[in-house]
Amino acid sequence: MNNIPEYFGCMVFDDRAMRVTLSDETYASMKKTINEGLELDISVANAVAAAMKDWAVSKGATHFTHWFQPLTGITAEKHDSFITPIPGGGVIMEFSGKELIKGEPDASSFPSGGIRATFEARGYTAWDPTSYAFIKGRTLCIPTAFCSYGGEALDKKTPLLRSMEALNRQALRILHLFGNDEVKRVHTMVGAEQEYFLITREMFDRRPDLRCTGRTLFGARPPKAQEMDDHYFGAIKPKVAEFMEDLDEELWKLGIPAKTEHNEVAPAQHELAPIYTTTNVATDHNQLTMEMMQKVASRHGLVCLLHEKPFAGVNGSGKHNNWSMATDTGINLLSPGDTPHENMQFLLFLCAVIRAVDDYQDLLRISVATAGNDHRLGANEAPPAVVSMFLGEELSSVLDAIEKDMPYVGMEKTQMKLGVNIIPKFNRDTTDRNRTSPFAFTGNKFEFRMVGSSDSIACANIMLNAAVAESLEAFADILENADSFEDSLHELIRKTVKDHKKILFNGNGYDDAWIREATEERGLKNYRTTPDCMPHLLDKKNTDMLMHQGIYSMVEVKSRCEIILENYCKTVLIEANTMVGMAQTDILPAVSKYTDSLAKTIQSKRDADRSVSCRYEMSTLMKLSMLNDSIAEKTDELENELLTAGNIPETDKKADMIRDRLIPKMNELRTLCDQAETKTAKAYWPYPNYTDLLFSVR
Ligand code: ADP
Ligand code: MG
Repeated sequence: MNNIPEYFGCMVFDDRAMRVTLSDETYASMKKTINEGLELDISVANAVAAAMKDWAVSKGATHFTHWFQPLTGITAEKHDSFITPIPGGGVIMEFSGKELIKGEPDASSFPSGGIRATFEARGYTAWDPTSYAFIKGRTLCIPTAFCSYGGEALDKKTPLLRSMEALNRQALRILHLFGNDEVKRVHTMVGAEQEYFLITREMFDRRPDLRCTGRTLFGARPPKAQEMDDHYFGAIKPKVAEFMEDLDEELWKLGIPAKTEHNEVAPAQHELAPIYTTTNVATDHNQLTMEMMQKVASRHGLVCLLHEKPFAGVNGSGKHNNWSMATDTGINLLSPGDTPHENMQFLLFLCAVIRAVDDYQDLLRISVATAGNDHRLGANEAPPAVVSMFLGEELSSVLDAIEKDMPYVGMEKTQMKLGVNIIPKFNRDTTDRNRTSPFAFTGNKFEFRMVGSSDSIACANIMLNAAVAESLEAFADILENADSFEDSLHELIRKTVKDHKKILFNGNGYDDAWIREATEERGLKNYRTTPDCMPHLLDKKNTDMLMHQGIYSMVEVKSRCEIILENYCKTVLIEANTMVGMAQTDILPAVSKYTDSLAKTIQSKRDADRSVSCRYEMSTLMKLSMLNDSIAEKTDELENELLTAGNIPETDKKADMIRDRLIPKMNELRTLCDQAETKTAKAYWPYPNYTDLLFSVR
């Protein structure tokens, strides 16, 4: 398939498909719903449903599903077929407006963090007409939100849509103050760069840890990992190239604008970046991208690892959430403008983000909290767990000049007078690309780099949108009541920079000195782990903001806190159990068998010649025997800790115990086993090693 424009989006009921299949009148109502969020009349819904079904059936679809994103992080779907029996036998293919708008999955098994009592297990799904329906396999998938009958959101899409609405509401107030009356809507735009690893199915199948947990729980460091920096942007191996080609084609058919595919820092690590789009669509697309990556990999005899840290000591995987705000008239509000007036507007939106990131640094950290991501943040490869913002030298000096009411010396060394209305024109900073910053300004967008590779980008964007909406609201309240808009605007920008500059940092985020300065001098938060940060979701300032912006009710916020901690516990407990199993049934027997063979070798050598020293066999035998004793002991200890953890009923206490006792014990066991691996003959070791795994795909 080389005619991309022809097949791009062919599996999507997008604007083109609607224009062709809907009557002018229905099309117009549908557009109004999409653009302005107006409710769809049932007769229109019936017409849309009928057209959608005919279109889907013509492309081979037999079923439909309400596709939604429960709080587990994956997507869920329950397939219903279009068939309706007719009297006298036979069937017709039917799909009504009612079925399109609302679904009732039996969702009692999705986590709800206690929201949904089991006796009222059913929630309902509601169509999100702003994200196009698409066909996957033989199923028409209708992107939906998922709520309980009490109206609580049981998914990630509902709060995401609410956060976009909140930001839109406040951003419009600001734009109107600047005289931009033609703007009807402000959207947040997102492009999520997705990192992943590819290994062969054959290697994957031989590792119980990868199969059960998505990451290696054991494995000695390879002699060569990423030290040579030769993988990044290096030539793509033929098998990987085939995979990428196939993946691009699948994504393009689904209307996902995959743009660049390249190698990443670690061997076997790659990245895909799409062209950015509105946040809720970008979120749906990212979920689909992850699903397709796994599907396409398996067609190629490969496995796609989306875990944040599949290999210890090797670069982990994240997701850069590129974020900006744009008007329906096509203006990027984070793009420095050409006139002083536009620049003032830009600076105000910039300040809104600065204030948001500073005030809600904890919520941003919380929004990316998972057991997997804990391995990555602060591990000298991903951003540290301390949230800070990178603006680049030029923009920083502009803000600095404003704060001090000093003339700004531009990059061209021309001194400019700084008055209320005379903000200097400055260029986009494209030179400096600080990869260590968790939240970096990259010219006309921010890149939030803490999101884990396997996580949905919904949570990060919910918090970001909500926090920025809160800033914009505070700004609008001040500016709408000001005697002089310009004086007040200038003062507001100055004060915001002064109050929040502690979050700005252009230096090296990996530096230990920075972590010290950030926490001790600047008072920034450093939540290393999920159990460290999660309780702060319920801090009053956070719940107040989230409720005030209409993102979450108290019940919803509490349920998220519970579910994330529960997930953390489950994930680590599965890992610990897997470790115990691997140690007991594979590693201990393997080492024992190898030491036995060494002992026999020594015996036979000595039988032949009593004076032979058997240096290798003797020293290895002794070291391995001791190591195996320690491994056995540590495995017993880990098993005991598992029993203790299992007996703690409260989720938060269990999570703390896991962090403080279980994980350190897992690390101790791993260290011993990895030492044993380096001393055991390869033929005896039960698993492929890191070199086998990382260089398995050719
Ligand atoms: P870079 O590699 O310099 O970070 P790219 O142009 O390759 O920038 O973009 C990286 C990602 O950022 C892509 O997914 C892209 O679509 C997205 N992106 C670019 N501009 C914006 C924007 N204004 N808002 C949101 N995302 C954007
Ligand atoms: Mg980038």
